[in-house]
Amino acid sequence: MAATGPLPPPPPPAGAVTRFAPSPTGLLHLGHAHSALFGHALARRAGGRFLLRIEDIDASRCRPEYAVAVEEDLTWLGLAWERPVRRQSEHMGDYRAALDRLALRGLLYPCFCTRAEIAREVAAAGHAPHGPEGPPYPGTCRRLSPAEREARLGRGDPHALRLDMAAALAEAAPAGGFSFGELGEGRLAADPAPFGDVVLARKDVPASYHLCVCHDDALQGVTLVTRGEDLKPATALHRLLQALLGWPEPVYAHHPLLVDAAGRRLAKRDGAPSLRSLREGGHGPADVRAMAGFPGRD
Ligand code: GLU
Repeated sequence: MAATGPLPPPPPPAGAVTRFAPSPTGLLHLGHAHSALFGHALARRAGGRFLLRIEDIDASRCRPEYAVAVEEDLTWLGLAWERPVRRQSEHMGDYRAALDRLALRGLLYPCFCTRAEIAREVAAAGHAPHGPEGPPYPGTCRRLSPAEREARLGRGDPHALRLDMAAALAEAAPAGGFSFGELGEGRLAADPAPFGDVVLARKDVPASYHLCVCHDDALQGVTLVTRGEDLKPATALHRLLQALLGWPEPVYAHHPLLVDAAGRRLAKRDGAPSLRSLREGGHGPADVRAMAGFPGRD
């Protein structure tokens, strides 16, 4: 496996607080190691702090034994982080409170649609524009009458909570539009509108990644968000949530995803080797750090 990941761009802001925030849906692989080492290296360089957060709100996909394995594997790699580790599943009330603040301002509405219904509506609308997470929601449940909404809620129909994007932008968009600071790149424009009415609480999980990640970065005082560049488009939505909820704006450092010798992204579904299998195959921590793009100690 080639070490193709670049080292972090200097210089991080002095005293930066970074974090690695995996979802324990499987064993960590080299791509995760790269991300963790990237965040750790930037915190060390900044003379700052490094946190680990377990993003386990989705009980159907996350397993406690994988969360245990995350800590074992990172320790074996030579990383250390502050304790206690925040586990999102233990704090669902925090996310509910943030949702309530948005709901009180009329920025959320219940959505009763099934995936199939949404797909049918999108298809019927012809060439719907593609948002960062697929076609934006066509707004069916935004147009329900108050009486129908109450009736369905009263019946206990399962529903998600969606952000009314137009209302949210009317309330929070700055005159010049949203932007964020990307380490080494300066300020980048960021438009959340293409996300449309995003889900902030799912039918099966009463919160969403976007809400929880912004909540926790604010709560934990993360000042430098380090993560893979696959999440860079999500930053536009995160800036909107931060503005709506009065949370501070961190600096961002998105790293290119680690690729194999053939240039393919390392992902679990493509059979990327887990750190555990590398270790069991006789590789030491220094070896694996090098494979993950961080030779030597950071
Ligand atoms: N939990 C997310 C993931 O595993 C990462 C969240 C983030 O770094 O913003 O993809």
